[in-house]
Amino acid sequence: MAGLNFEAEYVDSFDLLKVFAAEGVEFLLSSEGKVPLSDCNGKIICLFFSANWCRPCRLFIPHLVNLYETLRKRGINIEIIFISFDRDEDGFKEHIKSMPWLAVPFDANLHRRLIDRYRVDRIPSFIPFCSDALTVDENMIEWIEDYGADAFPFTKKRHGELKAIDKSKREEVNLEELLTHEGRNFLISGDDRKVLVSELAGKTVGLFFGAYWSPPSRAFTVQLADAYNNLKDTKGHCFEIVLVSTDKDLQEFNVNRTSMPWLAIPYEDRTRHDLCRIFDIKKIPALVFIAPDGKVISLDGKFMVSSYGAEAFPFTESRIRDLEAALRKEGDALPQQVEDIKHEHVLKLDRAKAYVCDACKKQGKFWAFSCDVCDYDLHPSCLEKVNNDQSW
Ligand SMILES: [Zn+2]
Ligand SMILES: [Zn+2]
Repeated sequence: MAGLNFEAEYVDSFDLLKVFAAEGVEFLLSSEGKVPLSDCNGKIICLFFSANWCRPCRLFIPHLVNLYETLRKRGINIEIIFISFDRDEDGFKEHIKSMPWLAVPFDANLHRRLIDRYRVDRIPSFIPFCSDALTVDENMIEWIEDYGADAFPFTKKRHGELKAIDKSKREEVNLEELLTHEGRNFLISGDDRKVLVSELAGKTVGLFFGAYWSPPSRAFTVQLADAYNNLKDTKGHCFEIVLVSTDKDLQEFNVNRTSMPWLAIPYEDRTRHDLCRIFDIKKIPALVFIAPDGKVISLDGKFMVSSYGAEAFPFTESRIRDLEAALRKEGDALPQQVEDIKHEHVLKLDRAKAYVCDACKKQGKFWAFSCDVCDYDLHPSCLEKVNNDQSW
């Protein structure tokens, strides 16, 4: 892949530096002090427009720092030049503390001229000086957040390649490749054991995308744990769940994972972020099931588990069809309307996701006899018909 990196043609930094000089930029700033413009000669230059008062900018900068340091470690001669949208010099000074790259010194008029010249109408904005680069409208920022240093050299061609790699990862899942990261080959359990990713070989694996801050996610965790614990005794050797956390910080992540009986991807590296992107996770909770042969069985495992619990195993479409058919048959065998000696109103056959039976006070699912007038539900098995002679 190394060969890909220099396919883009870089605009000669000399032209850019001429523009800077013509606009009155005499030198640039680094954390060490003044740097002559000529220091940028021959480098791949990217402009970065940002402001300290802007929260999206502050959130984006760690991504860009990571990209910058990774590329420089790879020996790529890249330089980023910050052009400020800050309102005053104090904001500017505070902002550049978070940046390992160069900055155009604070001068509101100068910054305004450069902003106009490069037609920047939003921040954060990142403009690499190479041909075929993604434009601001094509959302370079989101792309860098998604792919980090892999986004280099920021061209449309590279963008297409990365999309294609994601697609193939999604279509032919290699768990070993998907769940490990640069030397980390393990997952962690709720009780802090390290479990090798290779131990998942041959199992049906559910990737659970969730976070502690999300009430629906916490509610689904209870349902999933119920199914998981049911399956652990009988199918434990061929089934596993892996938490892909979208918790806000490490502390929240630790609270979340230690309450779960399954494994988790460690919080530290990019893998969690990559998996959300590869499986296009837009909301949580989400559950993706992968078959032992690496095929994605279902992107909507959440529906399977919340509807059928452990019964849904092995979480295939055909298993769900069979469960649906059995349920329909069960419903067909029940009367549409009944009278029960315990209740004064006529009860109607109803299909409910979950209810509590008013006779035995236990949970019920799917078929119920329910009252239209008041909130009354009965298990079909708890029915005591008024006239026992009358057959269904
Ligand atoms: Zn009951
Ligand atoms: Zn009633």
